[in-house]
Amino acid sequence: MTDKTRKFVYDGREFPDPDPSMSVDEVRQHLTDFFPELSNAETSNRTEGDVTVHEFKKRVGTKGGPCCRVCGCTDDNACWDTKAGRPCNWVEPDLCSACVEGK
Ligand SMILES: [Zn+2]
Ligand SMILES: [Zn+2]
Repeated sequence: MTDKTRKFVYDGREFPDPDPSMSVDEVRQHLTDFFPELSNAETSNRTEGDVTVHEFKKRVGTKGGPCCRVCGCTDDNACWDTKAGRPCNWVEPDLCSACVEGK
C-alpha cells in the first residue's frame, strides 16, 4: 500500500493533494504561494479511514516565537511586504521578507 490518498488541512480548510509524487514538505512549500506563513509551520498527520490527513499549523508567536528584529512584526501581526505584494514571511528566524533589504 502506498500513501496515495492524502488530504491537507490548514486553518480549518482542506486542500486536495496537488501532486501525489510530492512529499508533504514539498506540498507545504507549494502552499506557501498562498499562505506565506506556512514557510514556518508545523506538520502533523493523522489517519481518517484510509486517508492520511496532514495538517499544517502556524507556529504561534506567544512563547518566544519569531519576532522581526527590524520592524518587530510577528506571526500574528505580519507587516506588508510591498515588493512581494503580500504579507511578509520569515527570511531568517528573526528577519521578515519586508525588512530583508535593509539588512
Ligand atoms: Zn519586519
Ligand atoms: Zn514583517
